[in-house]
Amino acid sequence: MIQYQEPLFRPPSEAHSLILQATLGCSYNECSFCGMYRTKQFRVRPLPELEAEIDWARDHIGDVRKVFLADGDALVAKASYLLKLLERLTQSFPNLRKVSCYASPQALQLRSVEEMRELREAGLSLYYLGIESGSDFVLEKLQKGVDAKEMVRVANKAHEAGVKLSTMILLGAGNRSHSREHAEQSAHVVSQISPRFVSTLVMTPVENTPLWEADQRGEVDQLTPIELAAELRTFIAGLDVKASIFRSNHASNYLTLAGNLPRDKAGLLAQLDAVLEHPESAAFVPDWLRGL
Ligand code: SF4
Repeated sequence: MIQYQEPLFRPPSEAHSLILQATLGCSYNECSFCGMYRTKQFRVRPLPELEAEIDWARDHIGDVRKVFLADGDALVAKASYLLKLLERLTQSFPNLRKVSCYASPQALQLRSVEEMRELREAGLSLYYLGIESGSDFVLEKLQKGVDAKEMVRVANKAHEAGVKLSTMILLGAGNRSHSREHAEQSAHVVSQISPRFVSTLVMTPVENTPLWEADQRGEVDQLTPIELAAELRTFIAGLDVKASIFRSNHASNYLTLAGNLPRDKAGLLAQLDAVLEHPESAAFVPDWLRGL
């Protein structure tokens, strides 16, 4: 059977996927806001362990169509390892349609376009990439390890390899002082990448992270739901993408919005304008229902 090594995370849209932990933890593990893998030492799991889990899933789950390779940045594992894993998956699940994983900017720096293309042809067709911000100031504060220009470069390597991207922007990451810059620059970077999916999360200090410590020292201005709505409006207004699906369905969001861009841009902006004009009637998710 599959014995998950907790904690285990997956994107909201992978709720119905088979989750396999190809790697444990995150090889980078330095983003100031991220507490997901602080308790884990990064390692690539031995292939025979994964093969045994795939055999178990084939015999007990059956018709698997979507697989998500956890943990934090499975793409950092060697391409030869991932190819063998993908081969086993396609042999075991004849109706497999999609394999996806998180991809840190550092993993995208490491993998060549040719490797990513080969992996895509073997089934790994979608990466989840935390862009977080398009502002160099904010990226530095978040300790992402890359600036905006490098984020665009590595994201476009994936596109060149034919891999779809699902990208995340961290609302509130610029605090109050850099909210507008964060929103405008994030829109600029996302527009340059034009990913298949764009989603937003809300920056929330979690224990055992540098962000939590900064918050304890009173150095973090957490934006109110109204301020976050204004930031999101600036972000969406600045987007100039070819064809992206927008979602703010992560549990950390106060507002759940969805639409296809550019088609639904005016509608999304109108929804946000209504929230900003009549905040008392806005359907904000209460704090007790929000999560990370
Ligand atoms: S790269 Fe992703 S998983 Fe790793 S520390 Fe940063 S946000 Fe967390």
